[in-house]
Amino acid sequence: EASMHFRVRLATLGTRYVLLLADDHTEAFRLDEVRRDFVANISHELKTPIAAVGLLAEALDQAADEPVQVRRFANRLTSESRRLARLTQEIIELSRLQAQEALELPELVSVDAIVADAVDQNRVVAGAANITIAVGKKTRAYVYGDEQLLVMAVNNLVANAVAYSSEGSRVGVGVRRNDGAVEITVTDQGVGIPEADLDRVFERFFRVDQARARNTGGTGLGLAIVKHVVQNHGGDIRVWSQLGHGSTFTIRIPEAPVTDHNSLPTTTAL
Ligand code: ADP
Repeated sequence: EASMHFRVRLATLGTRYVLLLADDHTEAFRLDEVRRDFVANISHELKTPIAAVGLLAEALDQAADEPVQVRRFANRLTSESRRLARLTQEIIELSRLQAQEALELPELVSVDAIVADAVDQNRVVAGAANITIAVGKKTRAYVYGDEQLLVMAVNNLVANAVAYSSEGSRVGVGVRRNDGAVEITVTDQGVGIPEADLDRVFERFFRVDQARARNTGGTGLGLAIVKHVVQNHGGDIRVWSQLGHGSTFTIRIPEAPVTDHNSLPTTTAL
């Protein structure tokens, strides 16, 4: 793990001196390794749904005279292809984020707006399971960043909170300013995460319960994406959880030194 990688070059200076040049390639080597692992993971994860699509298409062909079977296979074909579409979209998103060290053109973004957008995108699914999403007080805080990526990150957390909760429960989303940072917290009363897996939930393709996650359409990429978005914003993400009682995810991002309040005009235009 802690190996170092140097590229060594020799240069001669006249006839008497030899110059040894050593470039540190440790970081480049690490990134290369990350990329290789990612490709291996992807091939593994794509194999199952691709094989399923092939088998279902064959089954559909053979069941042509039986309408009930045809409908059954067609429905499964639709859901497998949706899953494949989501998986490829998330893989592309994650590889883009992994390749990017910092944000290109950060803008001033309202945290209240990010939270409102992300919560809105989950209202329908939550409503169908009779889950209430409660949003806390507005903070008028701002961060520098990419609004679309931040909405996607918070949306992923809220979507997970809803997906891993049971009917009728409550999801809370709060924002607070703390010590130069803005904290966005998403809390649920759902299934929780075993303590041994807490560190691992941010790894790509990791799922606590493979079988269950597959049924809920999970890819295991959501939290890896969230982590990369947050890191690209100079922030971090943490999780607390109690198995069977619920989980809390907290994103912390450095606060931009502006608020709605002090951006209001203090004098009227002449
Ligand atoms: P997935 O697409 O499977 O939800 P994520 O990367 O978003 O992938 O999450 C990884 C795993 O972490 C999930 O499969 C699930 O086991 C666990 N997890 C994530 N969020 C929650 C939550 N709010 N409550 C319980 N488990 C969660």
